[in-house]
Amino acid sequence: MDNVQYSVVVPLYNEEEVINETYKRLKRIMDSTKESYEIIFVNDGSRDNTLELAREICKYDSNIKLISFSRNFGHQIAITAGMDYSCGKAVIVIDADLQDPPEVIIEMIEKWKEGYEVVYGKRIKREGETFFKKFTASAFYRFLNKMTDINMPVDTGDFRLIDRKVCEALKSAPEHNRYVRGLVSWVGFKQTGVEFVRQERFAGKTKYPLKKMLKLAFDAIALFSHKPLKIAAYFGSILLLMSIVFLLFTLCNGLIVGTILSLLFLLNGVILTALGVIGEYIGRIYDEVKGRPLYIISEREGFK
Ligand code: UDP
Ligand code: MG
Repeated sequence: MDNVQYSVVVPLYNEEEVINETYKRLKRIMDSTKESYEIIFVNDGSRDNTLELAREICKYDSNIKLISFSRNFGHQIAITAGMDYSCGKAVIVIDADLQDPPEVIIEMIEKWKEGYEVVYGKRIKREGETFFKKFTASAFYRFLNKMTDINMPVDTGDFRLIDRKVCEALKSAPEHNRYVRGLVSWVGFKQTGVEFVRQERFAGKTKYPLKKMLKLAFDAIALFSHKPLKIAAYFGSILLLMSIVFLLFTLCNGLIVGTILSLLFLLNGVILTALGVIGEYIGRIYDEVKGRPLYIISEREGFK
């Protein structure tokens, strides 16, 4: 293993429009630290030119390393792989689209040098994102805190610096359905935040369609809490009680057919919802017990 001070992990999924600019900005910032660093590009099965561009950069800059997945495994897995292969004394995770300003890394490094082991980026403002995205994100982080037993800082994404110790702790968590920010809170250590304004995407579109956002949201909740199961059971029992009261009422008043029918719908709805929640958990359990590797690498460049 090299003796590197900083590892910068950059997940890439169809980022051909931004990768060169991101590389330039990151390089400028990391050079200015006057310390050794590596930048690990993790190509998460991009279908555009991202891989070719990353290979190019790798060829003429020995600080750049590249891991390429055999297919799209998802943002959280890409970050995990980057951490797995990193060797810096501090690891910085940053999005490829320059929404997380690389300049903030310097502040993170300062905090790290003060002795903090996790320095997360806290978004005080988001620019150039749709109202829908801002609203859902903000509501989600608050809801998440209510639903889980772990105190996760609100409005923070995966843009953060972690100490080698924290990185090793994360590596010991083998779960497939991952919510890295949650894990980082879960492992503990001395944590602090630096505030920043989340920028507009430099180019290209978000790689987080609603479907991926929902999966991430459910993972976040399900991985750190059993509350959804409890809520499902709670709702179920309340409705059961209510339906008994209704039943007695309709029986006494002779309104049998109509009310029983609506009750049937209601109860079925509850049962299906509860089953759905349980199903989501079981699906995740199944993912874990299969014991498959988290990701499959098709190519690695720049590693010794
Ligand atoms: N990303 C990834 N795999 C995916 C989706 C996204 O590696 O399946 C990367 C993407 O290239 C970017 C980061 O994850 O570097 C965050 O994605 P994006 O900017 O699209 O999300 P948003 O900022 O809109 O939430
Ligand atoms: Mg983005």
